[in-house]
Amino acid sequence: VVWTKDAGWHDAEVIPYGPIQMDPASSVLHYGQEIFEGLKAYRRADGSIVTFRPEANARRLNESAVRLALPEIPEELFVAGVRELVRIDADWVPSGYDQSLYLRPFMIADESFLGVRAAERARFMIIASPAGPYFSGGVKPVSIWLSRDLARAGRGGTGAAKCGGNYAASLLPQQVAADNGCQQVLFTDSATVDTIDELGGMNLFLVRADGTLLTPRLNGNILDGITRRSLIQLAKDRGHAVEERDLTVSEWREGVAAGTITEAFACGTAAVITPIRQLKSEDFAIDFGESGPGELTMALREELTGIQFGTREDRHGWLSQITEP
Ligand code: PMP
Repeated sequence: VVWTKDAGWHDAEVIPYGPIQMDPASSVLHYGQEIFEGLKAYRRADGSIVTFRPEANARRLNESAVRLALPEIPEELFVAGVRELVRIDADWVPSGYDQSLYLRPFMIADESFLGVRAAERARFMIIASPAGPYFSGGVKPVSIWLSRDLARAGRGGTGAAKCGGNYAASLLPQQVAADNGCQQVLFTDSATVDTIDELGGMNLFLVRADGTLLTPRLNGNILDGITRRSLIQLAKDRGHAVEERDLTVSEWREGVAAGTITEAFACGTAAVITPIRQLKSEDFAIDFGESGPGELTMALREELTGIQFGTREDRHGWLSQITEP
């Protein structure tokens, strides 16, 4: 669907997947004016297909749109596009636990104009692809690398938006993490290098020995993850306290040494919940040892995937059914 400053959103269509035409002067190619979302459709045991909280993705896309000076899209149009595509691609929705159809809605500025200003033409598209389990050999705790010199976001920047530029900035730190034997990178506030923001593509939680969950507050630098929000709700439902506040690497380090912090995990649409075994940096490591994924980490994972795949009750009305059983 296309947006122009004069006519608003128009010309919605569904076309077969394939290359699209773009003008080499298209603004997105020069100034990175682009935003995106990621969500999944699941096939439940009874064969029906559901999506998980697409309205939340629509709202978040619009928050990103405001920051990137792109037009907002009506929530109904976003959700209708998602539903229509899933219905058309229903045969591509795999069945089985941890399988899904991944949906990638995105918006690009598409005016042929080389001046540096917000474009007056944009395109919104959704593509889809079947996705297998994130962990091929079962859920294994990962090691993460503390990125010290390379930041992803800073105050007043685009850290809270889901825009391509943030990911461009995180590719090199991700490589550094891999070079140091880690699967993910942890970003901290670039001024203190101690206040925890998030991982390259996931939000972070720590678990205290008393069952309290700790997670960085939405400080303007991190993404308002939909998995993060969902897990906060599910943890509260189970009677756990959740503290959304500034968290530091020092607090994590001291907590693990004192035995008061007992689990850590990262969460996002792609990996659901990833248990964290250790945080490594040039001069220290915080390590939970060989004990495997934490108990609460796995209980929350069970609960969330159970809702998505229809084995647990959808108490909060997060699913919308796309096809009949
Ligand atoms: N932070 C970043 C930087 C991400 O890319 C993602 C993945 N969208 C998340 C957090 C988790 O967000 P969600 O739970 O909505 O997938």
